[in-house]
Amino acid sequence: MNSTKGEFQLQNEVEKCIVCHGQIYMGEVYYRIGGEGIHRECLEEFAKEYFMEFRNVKEEK
Ligand SMILES: [Zn+2]
Repeated sequence: MNSTKGEFQLQNEVEKCIVCHGQIYMGEVYYRIGGEGIHRECLEEFAKEYFMEFRNVKEEK
């Protein structure tokens, strides 16, 4: 028997996180926003960018 295990992956099945560019694995909970995959733990980072225009600083009036 020859053991040619190697990296068997269907290229177009591999989904990557747009925040950290890491792979999103099978069975992993992730978010799909506008067709893009985002890890659950990367969502905060993404949200910071995404909602950047709504960012505010509370100031004394
Ligand atoms: Zn990520």
